Formats: sequence, structure tokens, C-alpha cells
Amino acid sequence: MKKSIGIDLGTTNSAAAIKKIRVEVLKNAEGDFITPSCVTVRKRLMRKPEFIVGRHALEWLRQEPENTITAVKRLIGRNFHDQEVQDLLKSGRLHCSLSAHSHGSHNSIAIQVGGREFSPEEISAQILAKIKADAERVLGDEVATAVITVPAYFNDKQKHATRTAAALAGLKVSRLLPEPTAAAISFGVDQVASDEGKTVLVFDFGGGTLDLSLLAISGGQIIEIAKGGDMWLGGEDIDGLIISHVLRETADQEGMDDIRLRALIARQEPGQRNRLLTELKLAAEKAKISLSNSPEASIVVLGLLEDEDGDPLAIEVELCQEQLEELLAPTLELVRCLVRNLLADAHFTADLIDHVLLVGGSSRIPCVIKILQQEFGADKVLLHERPMLAVAEGAAILSHRLSGVLECPACGGEATQNSPACPHCKFDLENYNLQHGLVDIVHAAAHDYFIRLENNSRFLLIKKNTPLPCSSTEIFQLVDAEQELVHMQFYNVVNGREESIGDLWLGIDHDSGPASTAETAAGMAEEPLRVAITLDIDENNLVSVRAALCGQPEVKVSGTLSRGKADEKLFLLLESIINEADQKGYSTYTVADLLCRARGIIRSIHQVVDERTGEVNENLFRQIAEKISKAGKIAEAEEAPLTRIYYAESMLTDYGMLIEPALQMQIRKKVARLREVDEEGTCEETMQAMEELAKILENPGLEAVHALTQIESACEICHRSEPDKAKRFMRATAEILAAAEAGEEPSLAQVQNIMPEVEEVLDQHARSIQKIHRGIRK
Ligand code: AMP
Repeated sequence: MKKSIGIDLGTTNSAAAIKKIRVEVLKNAEGDFITPSCVTVRKRLMRKPEFIVGRHALEWLRQEPENTITAVKRLIGRNFHDQEVQDLLKSGRLHCSLSAHSHGSHNSIAIQVGGREFSPEEISAQILAKIKADAERVLGDEVATAVITVPAYFNDKQKHATRTAAALAGLKVSRLLPEPTAAAISFGVDQVASDEGKTVLVFDFGGGTLDLSLLAISGGQIIEIAKGGDMWLGGEDIDGLIISHVLRETADQEGMDDIRLRALIARQEPGQRNRLLTELKLAAEKAKISLSNSPEASIVVLGLLEDEDGDPLAIEVELCQEQLEELLAPTLELVRCLVRNLLADAHFTADLIDHVLLVGGSSRIPCVIKILQQEFGADKVLLHERPMLAVAEGAAILSHRLSGVLECPACGGEATQNSPACPHCKFDLENYNLQHGLVDIVHAAAHDYFIRLENNSRFLLIKKNTPLPCSSTEIFQLVDAEQELVHMQFYNVVNGREESIGDLWLGIDHDSGPASTAETAAGMAEEPLRVAITLDIDENNLVSVRAALCGQPEVKVSGTLSRGKADEKLFLLLESIINEADQKGYSTYTVADLLCRARGIIRSIHQVVDERTGEVNENLFRQIAEKISKAGKIAEAEEAPLTRIYYAESMLTDYGMLIEPALQMQIRKKVARLREVDEEGTCEETMQAMEELAKILENPGLEAVHALTQIESACEICHRSEPDKAKRFMRATAEILAAAEAGEEPSLAQVQNIMPEVEEVLDQHARSIQKIHRGIRK
């Protein structure tokens, strides 16, 4: 039978567990319960690169730090330009190089290891693949599904990326479970009787993150009331503090100042420097861990540092618990603040908390435990027996429950969850479940979800801690009556910083040609349109959005948000040419042409990534990228081929009876040619076809038809602003048409007197600078 397991995919360490009768943490191929989340990628001649994962990769970190990636979880679902990623790059903690991914959006991350580029998802997939393979070895069966834990702070993009990693590793994710909730399950808090509600604070202090979660447990339900913590605070930061202390002490011992010692390290040959920093980090971590049990520890690194004269410099520093506590004082203060903020956020006080559950390796540090005991009282603070495995255990328990298999409370045998009685001992399962309830974990929105309004203000769509699933629909007004594009930008605010979770674009075809900004003004409602925007978050925290025009529900767009993939790259390209057009201030027809192209491009971009599989249609991607580049060039040349087509086609439809059939045919051919090259050809071919069409339209036989078409356009432009003028123009048109119907040759003489006015109206319209509106307001 295929197995379902629980996986703690940690920043520093990962672990897997399964629940049979009891929960068992699974040993990996090396015989350890914990697999370091570390991947080395080794280049091989003429063959695919080799991936080394876990403890062996940690060993390779010493020899090939540039090909080894640790803490990939810090990068998953993030943007290259995110402050956190840039900070990580500057911190020197990363041994390998990062760049913007050449295939995803300019913002997605590429990790350069083993001579190739990998996405954080691909690297995480290697860790998951090892966990899956090792679990299969121990269980002797295929592992098909897993509950994978993620930090409570993960946003939608990071969760989606985690799912992608699992899919790449051949795992089906039955649930992404917040780590603190998993930890709480492993403490057995779901055993609380239905009439005995409890509030617990899960304090999960791991290698890379501090996750705080306030949970209410009652009636067979675990409800997240609030979350907090810091995604960038963990054991690694503590190691960093110890390293700084060790360098200060070493400098002291050598009678030099700290800066000179750091300069010495910086001047070392890169390979040697990396080895030194790696050894220093390992020694600092080892000392930290032993200080959790003993009063003193030493940090020794020999033979890897030399002074300016090439003489060896030994690093040998003693550290005691009191010194560590001193070093950690600011960190401990921050921890205290984060805990208090969380309580304040949820309108709780410390005395209302029943238990504080400590999980994660860093929660073993005595002074961390002391802080929590001071805040809550010693009796409430419970340390997990296996703090580094608690999360995997909780995930395994949920995974087992979701697999639909139930453990009979009477005999321990397996039964399906909806069976009324145990097939082994006939125990009344239905009644038992009714009384005790099946634990149902109710998730809550991890963050506030905002949409950006015109002038950069924000509107709250979903409030943090709203129970999931949830949905919010709000009506917004477009900023302009003639607006043809709506750019919806969604984001979270995490630790006071805005984090984009994706954009959505909607193109509005005002059901008129590209030349018709004036027509739109004349024919459409004078009030700006309204758009209904819905944001849904399902129980797995997956965010999807929908937008539809009020009164025109067929004008709509929906989807999961763009996630740093090919579609986002195209939207960014499109946005950049629109921004440029806006800055340069193009005139009416150029803007109308650009908007018409943008609408088509938006429709196509929505088809580039398969929503279900995430696959990119490479051909379509290239075609759209070319179309965007062409649209930019045409706008820059202040040209408007689509406007020309529209003009010629209006002439033929409205005044065809006044044009010689042979000439009509020639115009049609040139229009068809222009359409074709505009769609498929180069920019130069389009310009050429446009000139050819213009030449045909210069035919003297078309003079009156031009006049009529121009009068009609002018009429539409004046329709609202100068109705009297529009009426006069209309009368002139009617006269020519009446004469033509009476068999007279249409003559310009009949409209000679109004043409200067018509030309002035058209000229003014053509020259006016158009702003491209994209925003919404409440
Ligand atoms: P986790 O993310 O829960 O696997 O925790 C990993 C972090 O816990 C690493 O930074 C370890 O250095 C740290 N750690 C593990 N055991 C201990 C310990 N006994 N005392 C202090 N820190 C520890």
C-alpha cells in the first residue's frame, strides 16, 4: 500500500516521519533522524550534474562551498531583488552565487552551482527526493503523498514554490501545514476534550526562523488565532554572533584590532577564505549546542588563517554560558518583543495562555527558555522531548489522518475514517467520532492582503487571522471613463515590509476600434466603469483572484497570481513599455494603437503558463515577447498601424458606395497585407505596408470620402463637448450623402466651408497627449 508521510522541510534540517500505531521518525540512508537541508551540485563531464544531499553535502561544503547551497528555504518563492535576498547576499553567509534567473521573471532567483543555474524549487526538490527515497527504503513501499510543513510566515508565492518542489520530487502534497500547528499536534494537544478549551503558544525556534503561533484548541479543532515571529531570526544568527565574538577575542589575543583581523580574512585566497569561514561556522555551532548542556565550550580552528607575514594565526576561544547570554542579550530582547507583539496583536495577555510549547533546535538554549519562563511562568513552558523532530511528527499525524485511515481507539487496528464500526473488534467508531470529533485544523490567513490603489494607497481585502477558507469581493472604480487597462497589484505586509504576491491585468475593449478614444468618450458611459475584484484563499492557503467589470461580466480575468514565472516576466516587459509611453507622452493615435496591442497581449499572456501543471508554452512565450518589443518600437516611432487599418476599414464600410470597385479592391488588399505583417512580420515590414496603404488612400478619387470620414470622426470627438458643432458637421455629411443618393457625383465643394473647422478638431485631437490610466480607486 502506498504510504503517506509527514515531512519537515526545514531551513537547516529536514526530517520525515510516519504514523502507524505510533509515530515513527524515519532514519535516512546515513542512519540519522535528521537530514541537513544542504545540497552540493557537482559538475560531471558530458553527464548530468550529480546531486549530493544531506550530511555528505555538509562535508562537501568544506571542499566545494561554491557548489553547495544551505538554507535554500530562505530563497524559495522569493524575488531576486527582495531586500532579504540582497541582505543574504551581502551577509556572506551564502557560499554559492545567485543571480536573476534567465528564464523566469527578472525577479526570480537562479542559484549557480555545478556550472549550471537552478531555481530554489529545483534544489528543494533534491532534498525532498532524498527524503522520499530514504523513506521508501525504510518502509519498503512507495511514498506517494506527504504533508509538508512550511513556516507560518510563508506567503502564497513561497507555498506555491514549495508545492512545485514537491511535484518535481514526485510527491503529491496532501496538505501544507504551518510548522507551529504541526508541532502542537505532536505535543498531543488535539487530545484536549471538547469541553476543555486550551490556548497554547507554539514557540518554534529553528535554524533560520522563529515562528510563533497562538492556537486555540477545543471541540476537536485547532484554530490558529494569530501568528508572529521573524522569518530571519534563527540558530544561524546566533552562530553569526558567536563568530563575531570569536574574531574579536582572537584579534585581542593577537594584539590587533578587529578590523585588521577581518581585513586579513578578506585578503585570503577565496577557496581558503571559504574553508576558514565554514570551519568557523561549524565550530561556533558545535560550541553553541554543547553550551545547552555544559557550562563551557571552546571554539578551535587551526591552520587556516595567516597574518600579513604568512605566519599562522590560531583561533582558540573559550566561551561560557554567561558570555553567550550576554552576546544574545539583544536577540533575547527581540524574542521577548516578538512574543509580546503577538499577544497584543491577538488581544491576549500572558496569563490567558495555558501552555508554551517549545520546539526547534534553538529552543534548547537555556537563556531562551529562561526568557519564556519569565514571561509566562516556569510551569507553563514545555520543552518537546525531541524538539528538532516535533514538526515532522505532527506532519506525520496529520498525513495519516488525511489518508482516510483511522486507528481504532479500542484495538489499535486500522479502519477507514467513515466506517461505523472497527472491522477488527467491532468498536462503535461512529459514536466515538461524534463524541470526540475528528481533529480539524482550521487555518487562518497568515497576513493582511492588500490591493494597491491609484496614488499608491492600499486597500485591505483580507485581514490577517481570518479563518480559512475565506473570500472577499470589493467594488472599485476605474480612474478614467475611457480606461482600457486595469493593473491590479496584490501584496502582503510582512514585518512592516510590502511583499508582492502577484499582479493581475485586465484589458477592456470598449467595443470600438483603436482609433476611437474619442468614440469611446462619445459612445460609452460618462462615468468611469467599476470592477469587482475577488480574492479567495482556500484552506491550503492558496490565493486566487478574479476581476470582472460590473455590468459587463464577460469582461473578466481570473487565475492564481503570477509567481515569478514566464507570465510575470512578460507582464513586466509590457508594463515597462507602457510606463515608457506614459513618460514620453505620446499622442492620441499612438496611445490608442498601443492600448489595442496591450489588450491582445494581456489575453495571450494568460495562456503562457498552464495553471494546472505550471508548464510554460515556450513558443507562445517567444511570440508574445516579440509582440511586446514590436509594440514598444511602433509607439516609439509614434506610429499607429492599427489606427490606419481602422480608418481604411471605416471608409470602406461607411462610404463604400462612393468608391470605385477596383479602388475598393486595392484598398482591401493593402489592408489585408498590413494586418498580416502587423500580426506576423517585423516592425520594418509593418511600416512598409503602412506606407503602401497610405499611398493608395492618396488616390484623388477618394477626396470626398476622406472628407466624409474626417467629418464623422470630428463629429464623434465634438459629440459631448460641443454638441452644436457636431450637429453642423452631421448636417453637412447628410447633404453629401443625399446628393450622392440622387445620383450626383459627391463633391468637396459642398463641405468646403466646414473643412477648416473639421481639420482643426482632428488636429487638436491627434496632437493631444494621452495619459495611460491603469489604476483603480475605491
Ligand atoms: P531546526 O531548524 O529545528 O532543525 O534547528 C536547527 C538549529 O538548532 C540549528 O541552528 C542548530 O544549531 C540549533 N540547535 C540544535 N540543537 C541545539 C541545542 N542543543 N542547543 C542550541 N541550539 C541547537
